[in-house]
Amino acid sequence: MAQSTETTDWVSRFADEVIAEAERRAPAKPAVVVASGLSPSGPIHLGNLREVMTPHLVADEIRRRGHRVRHLISWDDYDRYRKVPAGVAGVDESWAEHIGKPLTSVPAPEGSPHPNWAEHFKAAMVDALAEMGVEFDGISQTERYTSGAYREQVLHAMRHRQDIDAILAQYRTRPKAAGKKSQKPVDEAELEAAEGSGAAAEDDGSSGSAGYYPYKPYCGNCEKDLTTVTAYDDDSTELTYACTACGFSETVRLSEFNRGKLVWKVDWPMRWAYEGVVFEPSGVDHSSPGSSFVVGGQIVGIFGGEQPIGPMYAFVGISGMAKMSSSKGGVPTPADALQIMEPQLLRWLYARRRPNQSFKIAFDQEIQRLYDEWDRLDAKVADGSALPGDVAAHARAVGTAAGELPRTPRPLPYRTLASVADITAGHEDQALRILGELDPADPITSLDRARPRYDKAEAWINTHVPADQRTVVRGEPDAELLKSLDEPSRQSLRLLLDGLADQWSLDGLTHLVYGVPKVQAGFSADATPKELPPEIKTAQRTFFALLYHLLVGRDTGPRLPTLLLAVGQERVRTLLGE
Ligand SMILES: [Zn+2]
Repeated sequence: MAQSTETTDWVSRFADEVIAEAERRAPAKPAVVVASGLSPSGPIHLGNLREVMTPHLVADEIRRRGHRVRHLISWDDYDRYRKVPAGVAGVDESWAEHIGKPLTSVPAPEGSPHPNWAEHFKAAMVDALAEMGVEFDGISQTERYTSGAYREQVLHAMRHRQDIDAILAQYRTRPKAAGKKSQKPVDEAELEAAEGSGAAAEDDGSSGSAGYYPYKPYCGNCEKDLTTVTAYDDDSTELTYACTACGFSETVRLSEFNRGKLVWKVDWPMRWAYEGVVFEPSGVDHSSPGSSFVVGGQIVGIFGGEQPIGPMYAFVGISGMAKMSSSKGGVPTPADALQIMEPQLLRWLYARRRPNQSFKIAFDQEIQRLYDEWDRLDAKVADGSALPGDVAAHARAVGTAAGELPRTPRPLPYRTLASVADITAGHEDQALRILGELDPADPITSLDRARPRYDKAEAWINTHVPADQRTVVRGEPDAELLKSLDEPSRQSLRLLLDGLADQWSLDGLTHLVYGVPKVQAGFSADATPKELPPEIKTAQRTFFALLYHLLVGRDTGPRLPTLLLAVGQERVRTLLGE
């Protein structure tokens, strides 16, 4: 088992608080329960990963300290199907006929191996969580409700419907808060607001002419939740409802009826009590009066439970998710992020920021800088020079209480791998040749040594770098440009060509390309910036631009040493006019 990180970071502080609260509630020390809730109503947005990562990191710290802990992920798959998400492969407008049914009663997209809508979208998230080392107990709310697991709680809520109604009434006149607790992409939240009162009414139950009921049946004929409870008898538990969608009506005995659910604002606190949840964060938009977390805190007592410690987490943004890769409903999912970055990096993004800090996950060029930062931290941790808080975040990123996540054996710089993948365009033999030449003293002999990081960098190049930014090495020398060169330019190319053979490695070529302008200006190639006049920088820029033009026909490109290695010595000589 991995050691607990001794330093204090936000994860440690929450773990202290959660353990103390669990011991106050139950000194006999049963497992500490933390929870997340996810709605598989469509592709699960990468932003919603914070709903899982916040309790995961805290649970993992508690586990590292030797406590038993359960991380529940409640799959809200018994929620109603609200709308047909745009851009999901295998789904067309005909899915609209299922709106109002439970998510587990809606057919999966065409071609899916999964039995229904909810299972289809759940599966992608389960795979991503496994890759990230997130250990959890998944709970299907469909399974819970339809098996009658909550029977006592449902009957109890109906018996206390006036108490519940009284609590909800305190908030009904206030501006309505957002519905479900996980954050939604802004456009979806706006869409829901535009839908009108639907979400709010659905959240706390209708208060129709027959009185308030916190329970809604799914119709026995059409399966939709467009039902109204018209009568209920506490003694017999006989409940009568009518469906406004199909006109069906029936009277059932709630003590044996399993096709319905508590409304969200009652459902959530009921589950806190049922599971004994001690820690469950929610999106920052739920701090407002009347939000489900605040109201739940009042309702949970009716079920004999207590409100969990529930920090509000801030928005996680995405930068540079190109439209061209939005094949799965137009939203980036955790699986999309794991296509282009290792799980360690994704874990680190969550571990290093307190939940109330927002941050962005980069799908654009920023990912290269992020990886540089991560590699620098990795090196500092290895040589013992990292700060305690950074050491903690690093430890949470690279593994869990169960052990370290699989690592790339030779983690070469991401930007180098991306350039190599860019230039070699899928030719693995070429990629291996270049990677082998990066460090001749310790050459890479198999591409697998650079995997999976190499595969992630390659996927990033292929899916997130626009075509006009891809590198295309010239097929033929630019004869016109070569002919037009002045003498100093010709001399700079000669100096480069003369050094190529001896300097053919990443370090050697770096020294060479920066050194040529220095030598030309009469300095040593080893001269440091302090020993050089500022004009050298201009000369270097001019020289680099010339090389880019001759090699790839543009002003810029991948870092030159990588580019030279990628192009290969013979072809470099040809393109530079030797
Ligand atoms: Zn119906």
